[in-house]
Amino acid sequence: NSSTIGFIGIGNMGTHMAGHLVKKGEKVKVFDISQEAAKTVKGAQVCSSPEEVAQNSDIVFTMLPNGDIVKKTLLEDGVLKSLPKKSLLVDSSTIEPSVSQELFNISQENDVRFIDAPVSGGVTGAEAGTLAFMVGGNQEDVEYVKPILLHMGARVFHCGKAGAGQIAKLSNNLILGVCMMGVSEGMNLGIKAGLDPKVLHEIVNVSTGRCWSSETYSPVPNLLPNVPSSNDYKGGFNIRLMSKDLALAERTAVNSETSVPLAATAHQIYRALISNGYGDKDFSVIYKFLSGKK
Ligand code: NAD
Repeated sequence: NSSTIGFIGIGNMGTHMAGHLVKKGEKVKVFDISQEAAKTVKGAQVCSSPEEVAQNSDIVFTMLPNGDIVKKTLLEDGVLKSLPKKSLLVDSSTIEPSVSQELFNISQENDVRFIDAPVSGGVTGAEAGTLAFMVGGNQEDVEYVKPILLHMGARVFHCGKAGAGQIAKLSNNLILGVCMMGVSEGMNLGIKAGLDPKVLHEIVNVSTGRCWSSETYSPVPNLLPNVPSSNDYKGGFNIRLMSKDLALAERTAVNSETSVPLAATAHQIYRALISNGYGDKDFSVIYKFLSGKK
């Protein structure tokens, strides 16, 4: 008994996520401001507006760059007003927890359900269908959508009320942004001082420096296949998105009177990379910047 599922935002992540829904036999309608991007989901119906996606859909996913765009799409581009009553909005973008809470409230006023369900696992996880979903919202909505989330991911965590998924996601990405910088700095030191990159990579990954950034997403080119560093830092998780997430983590820290000194430093270093022309690259490009390689 398949549902009709809308998917708005067919970028690096959305293309794979929507693709899995089609492969699992769901009826999928997609929209992206880039027609070319929208067409990448084979077997999905390409719509000409977000409003068209919303019409007659049981569930609509958004996987968009930031909170302003999510808000505009849901509130101004007609999604909320075109959705059938009681249908479910699932925002998988990483945005401010306060915006998720606001969208939850506005949805409720319109008799539509809303959950925030940001993901972790990167483009490789999206492609493999092994994402982790961190969900905020009502328990019954989470239970209802869980089988659909498991078409695209391996784990679903209900973190609490609206916005709680985003808080989990931002905490994780704070760790990721700082760890990637640490791995890049340590690998660059060893390599510059004369070590073979392959040997250092192997050592770190059986030693205490091991983490996701060192093991499955090495920033040093040609140590791992199918990672952005081995493809001139193309694809993956754009450095602008990482900077945005660190900014959101800092804002969340202000609201909860928390100190995040390394997040603040990492944020400003990623910003400096954007100013130096690396803005369209994966965030692991920090290694290239530190190594000074052209
Ligand atoms: P992306 O930039 O590759 O994709 C975003 C897509 O949204 C693009 O195709 C763009 O054309 C489309 N878009 C922009 N404005 C639009 C609008 N007004 N209406 C319709 N479509 C519009 O980004 P991504 O890497 O897929 O990330 C999407 C979200 O997921 C972000 O919030 C990001 O922080 C989060 N995220 C990304 C990763 C990752 O590894 N890339 C991992 C986890 C979470």
